[in-house]
Amino acid sequence: MFDNLSDKLDKALHVLKGHGSITEVNVAETLKEVRRALIDADVNFKTAKDFTNRVKEKALGQNVLTSLQPGQLMVKLVKDELTELMGGDATGIDLSGSPSVILMSGLQGSGKTTFSGKLANYLKTKKTKKPLLVACDVYRPAAIDQLHVVGDAIKVEVYSDRDEKNPVKIAQDGIAFAKANGHNVVIIDTAGRLAVDEAMMTEIKEVHKAIQPQETLFVVDSMTGQDAVNTAKAFNDILNFDGVILTKLDGDTRGGAAISIKSVVDKPIKFIGTGEKMEAIDVFYPSRMADRILG
Ligand code: GDP
Repeated sequence: MFDNLSDKLDKALHVLKGHGSITEVNVAETLKEVRRALIDADVNFKTAKDFTNRVKEKALGQNVLTSLQPGQLMVKLVKDELTELMGGDATGIDLSGSPSVILMSGLQGSGKTTFSGKLANYLKTKKTKKPLLVACDVYRPAAIDQLHVVGDAIKVEVYSDRDEKNPVKIAQDGIAFAKANGHNVVIIDTAGRLAVDEAMMTEIKEVHKAIQPQETLFVVDSMTGQDAVNTAKAFNDILNFDGVILTKLDGDTRGGAAISIKSVVDKPIKFIGTGEKMEAIDVFYPSRMADRILG
C-alpha cells in the first residue's frame, strides 16, 4: 500500500535522519522533495504546498536546527502533519438510532454493494448488531441480485422489492421492515452511475431527505486519484455526508485520495476497503496510516 510514496518520502527524509546538525537549506530541500512525493502520489498541489508550509512553520517554531536530534524531529513533524492531514483521530459511526439508518452513496463500481456487506458483517460480528441490508438500485436487477448474494454469504437479511420503482419508497419500506423484525441497523445501498449526473444526485438527495439517516457515507474508489476528490466534493455539496469510505486500498493506488480527501471536503475517512472479501474492512486510523506511509 502506497509503496511508491513511502519510498519517496523515505528517500527525502533519509538525508536528515543521520545528521547531527542540519541547515536551513537541508530543511528547505527536504520539504521540496516531500512536496514532490505527495504530488506524485496524486495529492493536489495546494494541499501538498500547504502541508509543507505547515511543517516548515512548525520546524521553525520548535527550533529544529538547534535541537538535539534535528533529523528525527523533522521526521516526527512530517508524520504528525500527515496524521493531521488525514483526519487526526479516528471517528466511529453513529449507531444510536433505533434502528440506526446508514445511507451509502457513491458512483457505480466504487464498491458500495461490497462495502455494505462488509459493514453489515463487521457490525454483526464486532458490535453484535442485527443489521438489515436494503437494495435501493431500481435500475439494475443485477445489483439487487448482487446484494442478495452478499447477504447470503454473511447471513444478513436483505430487503428488496423488485416491483417497486421508487427508491424513496423502498428505503422507507426497508426501515419499516427493520422495525417490525427487530433489526437495529439498516444499511441502504443505492444506485450509482458511472459519473456524477443530475438524475442520480436528485435521487439520492430525495432518499436522504425522506429517511434522514444517522450516517450518510460516501464510498469512493481510491484508485481514481484526483477524480476521487472531485467526486467527493460533488456528493458532499448535495448530501453533506458524514464520512468517507475509501475502497480498493489493496490495489495499486498512489494514495492521493487517502491523503487529500479530508482537507478538501473536511469529512473523515471512517473505513477502508482492502480487498474483495467480506472481511477486508478496516477502521481508518490516520496515525496508523501515517506510520505505514513513513515506515
Ligand atoms: P458498486 O457498483 O458501487 O456497488 O460496486 P461493487 O460493490 O459492485 O464493487 C465493484 C467491484 O469492485 C467489484 O468487483 C468488487 O469486488 C470490487 N471491490 C469492492 N471493494 C473492493 C476493495 O476494497 N478491494 C478490491 N480489490 N476490490 C474491491
